[in-house]
Amino acid sequence: MLLGQLERMNGEAMVRDVETARQVTTKILHLIQTQEKSGKEVMSKGSSGMEVILASLEVSSQTTLEFLCRGRRMGVFVSKGGTGILFQILTSASKELPPSEELMLQLHSLLAKVGPKDRKFGVKARLSGALNVTISLIKQNLQNAKLLLPCLQVLRVYSANSVNAISLGKNGVVELMFKIIAPYSKKNTSLLKVALDALGALLKSKTNARRAVDGSHVPALLALYLDWHRNDARHRHMLIRKGLLVCLRNITNIKLGRKAFIEADGMRILYNTSTECLPVRTLDPLINTSSLIMRKCFPKNRLPVPTIKSAFHYQLPHVLPVGPVAQLYSQPPGVDDVVDDSDDNEETEAETDTDNEEDEKNDDIETDLNKLHPTKSPGRPFEELRVYERFFLELSEDFQVRSLSSSSSSARSTRPIIVPTAQALSPKHMATPASQEIWNSIKGQHTQPPASATSRTPAASLASLELDTIHLTKDHDKKEETHIPTPDGHTTLSSSMHSPQDCGSEGAEDEGGEGAVLEVPDTALLLPLHDPDLYVEMVKGTRSVPQYAEVAYPDYFGHVAPTFKEPHLERVYGVQRSKIFQDIERLIHPNDILDKVVYDLDIPSCPVIEDSGESLKFNSQFESGNLRKAIQVRKYEYDLVLNSDINSNHYHQWFYLEVSGMRVGTTYRFNIINCEKSNSQFNYGMQVLMYSVQEAISGRPRWVRTGTDICYYKNHFARSSIAAGGQKGKSYFTLTFSTTFSHKDDVCYFAYHYPYTYSTLKMHLAKLEALRTPHIYLRQDVLCETLGGNICPLLTITAMPESNSNDHICQFRNRPLIFLSARVHPGETNASWVMKGTLEFLMGTSPLAASLREAYIFKIVPMLNPDGVINGNHRCSLSGEDLNRQWQNPNPELHPTIYHTKSLLQYLAHIQRAPLVFCDYHGHSRKKNVFMYGCSVKETVWQSNISATSSDLHEDLGYRTLPKILSQIAPAFSMASCSFVVERSKEATARVVVWREIGVQRSYTMESTLCGCDQGKYKGLQIGTRELEEMGAQFCVALLRLKRLTGLRNHQHLLDLESDIIGTQSKVVSPTTYVMEEDEPSFLEAIDYSAESDNEDAEPENEHGNNVHENPDHLDQLSDSY
Ligand SMILES: [Zn+2]
Repeated sequence: MLLGQLERMNGEAMVRDVETARQVTTKILHLIQTQEKSGKEVMSKGSSGMEVILASLEVSSQTTLEFLCRGRRMGVFVSKGGTGILFQILTSASKELPPSEELMLQLHSLLAKVGPKDRKFGVKARLSGALNVTISLIKQNLQNAKLLLPCLQVLRVYSANSVNAISLGKNGVVELMFKIIAPYSKKNTSLLKVALDALGALLKSKTNARRAVDGSHVPALLALYLDWHRNDARHRHMLIRKGLLVCLRNITNIKLGRKAFIEADGMRILYNTSTECLPVRTLDPLINTSSLIMRKCFPKNRLPVPTIKSAFHYQLPHVLPVGPVAQLYSQPPGVDDVVDDSDDNEETEAETDTDNEEDEKNDDIETDLNKLHPTKSPGRPFEELRVYERFFLELSEDFQVRSLSSSSSSARSTRPIIVPTAQALSPKHMATPASQEIWNSIKGQHTQPPASATSRTPAASLASLELDTIHLTKDHDKKEETHIPTPDGHTTLSSSMHSPQDCGSEGAEDEGGEGAVLEVPDTALLLPLHDPDLYVEMVKGTRSVPQYAEVAYPDYFGHVAPTFKEPHLERVYGVQRSKIFQDIERLIHPNDILDKVVYDLDIPSCPVIEDSGESLKFNSQFESGNLRKAIQVRKYEYDLVLNSDINSNHYHQWFYLEVSGMRVGTTYRFNIINCEKSNSQFNYGMQVLMYSVQEAISGRPRWVRTGTDICYYKNHFARSSIAAGGQKGKSYFTLTFSTTFSHKDDVCYFAYHYPYTYSTLKMHLAKLEALRTPHIYLRQDVLCETLGGNICPLLTITAMPESNSNDHICQFRNRPLIFLSARVHPGETNASWVMKGTLEFLMGTSPLAASLREAYIFKIVPMLNPDGVINGNHRCSLSGEDLNRQWQNPNPELHPTIYHTKSLLQYLAHIQRAPLVFCDYHGHSRKKNVFMYGCSVKETVWQSNISATSSDLHEDLGYRTLPKILSQIAPAFSMASCSFVVERSKEATARVVVWREIGVQRSYTMESTLCGCDQGKYKGLQIGTRELEEMGAQFCVALLRLKRLTGLRNHQHLLDLESDIIGTQSKVVSPTTYVMEEDEPSFLEAIDYSAESDNEDAEPENEHGNNVHENPDHLDQLSDSY
C-alpha cells in the first residue's frame, strides 16, 4: 500500500514534495524493519518494490539512499541496475559546487556495499566517470576521515579492475595512497587498512608496481613494516602488517621490484621479522606472506651442473631432423643451457577487463567426432605383417606330434620355433644372434644344471672386474662370500660390490666384535622367485650406456615386503616453511655454507672425493641409478642433482642412489633440487624408500618407507627455458626429506619407489619357467632388440589343450586374447610390480588361474622400455622421447619396442583376432589408489560442448565392465578415479591408438599410485609391493569374472549383455584431464607450493590443503608432453 503511494508519487512526478517522499520511505523502512514478511515482499525479486525504490531513488536520492544503506538485499539491487543509477547520481551530484558532503558520504557508503556484489562494478564506474569523482573527493578530503573512509572503500573496489588500476595509477593515485599510509601512526587504523588494501590492489598492475619502485617506495614500505612490527606488540594490527606485506608482494612480482627489495635489504628484514613472529601462531599469515616474498626475491641460482643435457650421450642410428634429440644437440657449442639470459617474462600489460574472467576451459578434450569414432585403420599391408605370425604359434599349433602329457618336452620342442627368424623381419632391429644367445642362456638357467651354467662365458666383454668377482665368489662355498659389508669394516664397506676383495674375510675376522662373519641373507628362501646368483648372471647380459659394472645390493638381495603397516606420513605443521627458511639462511648466513661437492658424474674420475670422514659417500653407478651430483651444503645437509634422461635435458623425478659413511643417530637432510613436476604426493603422506644393507644381512632384506619433514616445493634454482618448453622464469622443485641411520657403517639406498630393474625382470622370467606345469602353455619370445642392444621379451601364457582332439585344439586356438604391457615409463616401477603379480598369478596353480588360462591366451610385453629402465631414465627411451607418445607412428629404428608391439596388434586385427582387452600398466605420481583410463565417445562428448547426434552417441558400456569389476574385488582400485575421456594430448598413447586403430573397445591404461590409498581396505596406508602384486593378481581375477559375466562367444552379444548388467543409467561423470604430462588428470587436492601465486588468499603453506587450489600451470606441463 505504501509502495503504491510511493509509486504514484514518482509516477506523478511529484518531485517537489521531497518531504512526503521522505516520510513514505521512512515508513517503508520502518515496516521492513518491524515486519519481516512485508520486508521480504518489498525486496523479493518478483515484486516490483525494488523498481519503485529505484525510481524513487532517481527522483529523491537522498532519502532513498538512507533507506538503501540499511538494506540487505544488495544482490537484488544490483540485478535491477542499481549500480548504474548510483553512478549517475554520483556524477550529476558532483557537478554541483560544492557537492553535498552528506550525499557524497551516503553515495560512497552505498557504493562500497554494492561494489563487491557487482561483477561489472569496475567497468561501470569507469564508463560513468565516477573514478575521477572519487579521486578528487579523496584529494580534497585527506583530513576528513569521515568522508575519506567510504571513498577509500570504493576506491578499493575500483582498483580490483586491472584497467581501472592502470588508469588510477596514471592519475597519481598510487602516490596518493603512499601519502595516506605513511608515516607510522596508530591514529586511524581502519582508514589505513582500507588504504593499504586499495594500494595492494593497485600494485597488482605492473605499471603501478614500476611506479612504486621509481618513487623509492620499496625501502619506505619495508621501514613502515618494521615500525609496525616493533610497535604492534599485542598484534592487534595484524591486518595492517599483512596489508603492507601484500603491497610488497605485488611490487616484487616485477623484476625491478625484486631488485629494489634486495637492495633495500628486504631479505634480512623479512627473515628477521618472520623469525620473531614464529612463536606466535596467529601471526602465521605474516610469516607465510613474508616467506612467499623472500622465495620470489631469492636470487635465482643456476643448477650446479655444466649442462642440463644428460651426463651420458647415446649415439642414435639416425636422428630425426625435427626430433627432440636434433633439437638438443643443435645448439652451438659454448651455449650455456643451464640458465637463460633473462629470467623473467615481463610482458606488457594487457588493457582488458578482468571483472568477468571467463571460466577456464578444458581444451584438451577431443572434439573431432571423426577422431572419436574408432575406425580400424588398415595400418600396414598384411604382407608386411605376416612375419609376425611366428609370435602366434598357439594360433596354428596342432599338437599332433607331441605328447601332451610331457609339457617340458613340448616347451623344448617349441623353442627352436620361438626364436624368431629375425632375418625375416628387419635384421637391424630384431634380435641379433648375439642377444639371442644371451636370451637362450637366460632360459637355460632353469633347465640346465648349474655346472653348465657356470661353464658359460657370457658377455665377457661387458663384465667388469666387479661382476667377474661376484661371479667367481659365487662359485665358491657360500661361507666365503664375505664381500658383504661387515658392521665395522668402514673402509671395506665400499659402495656396492666394486671391491669385494677389500671386504674380504680377513677384514671381518680381524675386527671381530659385533657379528664377525656375516652371510648373504638367504633371500631365496624368503623370496621364492629371487636368486642372487641368477641376478648377477642377468646383469652381465644387460647393456647400459654408462657400462655399469656394479650391482646394487637391494637388487642383488631382493626385497621382502615388510609385514608391518606403513601409514601415510602426517604432515608436520609448518614443515615447508621451516625448510624454506633454512634455504633462505643460505643467503643470509653464507659463511655457514660448505658447498662441498662429494659426488660428480661430470668429472671423469667420479667419485673423486677423498674420505675425510666428514662427508657422506654417494654412488649410483648401477642399473636404474641416476644421481648426477651431490653437494654437502651444511654439515648434515646435502643437495642432490639427478641426471636427465639420456639424450634429453630434463625429465627428472625418479631417483635411486646409494649412501654410505653415515653417523648413527644424526639427522641428515637431503634435498633433491631438480625435480620438475609441479606437485607431488610427497606433500600428501608419501615417504621415500630406504634399503639398509645391514638390515638385509640381519635377515630383513627390504625397502621401507622412511623420512621425516618431507615436503616438495618450488625452489630458487632457475630452470632454463630450453628445458621448460620455451618458458622463461621457471624454477625447479625440491623434494626434501630428513632421516637418521640406525646402523654404523651401513650402506643404504634411497629410491623414489621400489626399484625393479631390467635384470630383475630377466631373472623373474627365468624363474617363471620353473612354475610351468604340464597344463601350462608358456612361451617366451624375443620381440625385438632395443636401441641399446637389450632384448624385449614377449610372453605367451595359456593352458595346454585338454587333448589333441580337434575340438580341444579348436577351443585352444579360439580363446580370446588379452594383451598386456607395462613399464613404458621407466620411473613407474610400480607398474613392474603389478606386472609381477599378474605373471605369477597366471603361472599359479590355483583353480582360478587354471580357468583363466583355459579362457584366454595372454600376450604380455612386461617391459616396453628396457633401455630407459637400465639407464635410470624417468620417462624416455634412448631416443630421448616418451615412448608412450609414439604409438601413432612408431619408427622401427628409434622406437622398436613400440613398433613391434603395435605390429603384433595390427597383425591380430588383420586376422580378425584383435584382443578382447588391452591394458598398459603405468604408475601415477600425483593421485592415490589404482584406477584406469579408457576410451568412450559418449563420455568424451559429455565433457565437451560439441553437439552430437544420438547415433554418434550409440555406444555400449562394455568398456566400463572391467574397471567396475576391479572396483568390487581389488581393494586398492577406485572407480571414482577412472576416466574414459579421450584427450587430444593422448592421441598417440597406447590406450588411444589401440582403441582407435586396432578397434579394441576395452583399451586401458591402468595407473597405480606411487603413494597409497585413500579408500578401501588400504585407506591411509602407503602402497607396498605386496599390494601392487595383489593388484596384478586381482586384475586377472577380474578378467575371469569378465568372462563369466559374458559367457563369451560372440563379442557383440556379450557387449549387450554387459550393458544390461552394468546398467545404462550409470552416468558417472569422469574427471577430465587437464594435465598434459603423464597419463594423468590434474590433481585438485593441492598445497600451494608455488611462490608465484596471484591468489590473494593463497599462502605458501596450507596445512589442510582445502581452500587452496592448485594453479593448473598448463604451460609448465606442456614441456613434458611433446
Ligand atoms: Zn606412465
